[in-house]
Amino acid sequence: MPRDPITAPPRDECPARTERTTRDKAEAKATRCAICGCAGHATELYPASFDFQSLTPAVFSARRLPDRVHYRMVKCDGCGLVRSDPIADPAVLETLYQQSAFTYGAEVANLKRTYGRYLAKLDSFGVRKDTLLEIGCGNGFFLEQALAHGYRAVSGVEPSREASANASAPVRRQIVCDVMRPGLFAPDQFDVICLFQVFDHIADPGALLEECRRVLKPGGVVLLFNHNVAALSARLLREHSPIVDIEHTYLYSPKTIARLLEQHGFKLRTAAAVWNRVSLYYLARLLPFPKAIKTWILAGLQRVRLEHLAVWIPLGNLWAVAAKTASDEQPRR
Ligand SMILES: [Zn+2]
Repeated sequence: MPRDPITAPPRDECPARTERTTRDKAEAKATRCAICGCAGHATELYPASFDFQSLTPAVFSARRLPDRVHYRMVKCDGCGLVRSDPIADPAVLETLYQQSAFTYGAEVANLKRTYGRYLAKLDSFGVRKDTLLEIGCGNGFFLEQALAHGYRAVSGVEPSREASANASAPVRRQIVCDVMRPGLFAPDQFDVICLFQVFDHIADPGALLEECRRVLKPGGVVLLFNHNVAALSARLLREHSPIVDIEHTYLYSPKTIARLLEQHGFKLRTAAAVWNRVSLYYLARLLPFPKAIKTWILAGLQRVRLEHLAVWIPLGNLWAVAAKTASDEQPRR
């Protein structure tokens, strides 16, 4: 599944045909608040920055530089959850994800350090290091990290054919090329389920959490890692924040993600700010400047050979850990 860092343009053998098919199917569909379930009762934050007729795989996932393509964004008046409304048909989105390609390039080492840091923190919650599933595992680099960290068996789900085909030998056979759906895995199978920069992309996060709950062992945990709409950077940059993006159906805060998790049978263990390890090059790509200025800055970094220099910095992400509650504990609805 394409996720941040910014994805590479899709490599489709027949772009003209893909574009026509996608355009024919793309229709605006209203969304509901994933917490309250209501369709209206929301305040517009930003109008859509494009029209649906121009929705192609290239628009959807080729963000060579973040260019602020986004749906209309609203905030639920009841619970404060931020969402895109309307969005393209989820079936079309699934096709776009399958067609998308991505390369992490030089950022893989930094992502491994960042995700590894939060995987290690699970140890302090007494999590059993036996079976782990990653939803949206890309080329499986984090699954390798989990094996190195002592997990006995790892599995991944990844809709991008290209990404899953590029996984390394130790994890390739453990990756299912699909979206997470009921029936892929047996009940009570995993100790840990990780979603790194994936959860904001999910059109029906409640259904996904229900399925995660089903395949988790009793006491198993989900580790969610996504943007924090309440972070200082998001509040300051508003529509210019790179998190206001066509790929994000929902944008969570620690408060709204806690509420959603608890509604679906999870007990929140933590929801806090993430420190990301990123290169200066990656950081420069996120700057809220016009493309021409960013291109100039990126070229300058390369000229002085500082593009690979990495720093730890809070980038406006949040991580949440939540444990599956016992079946006799009724979820709060
Ligand atoms: Zn709501």
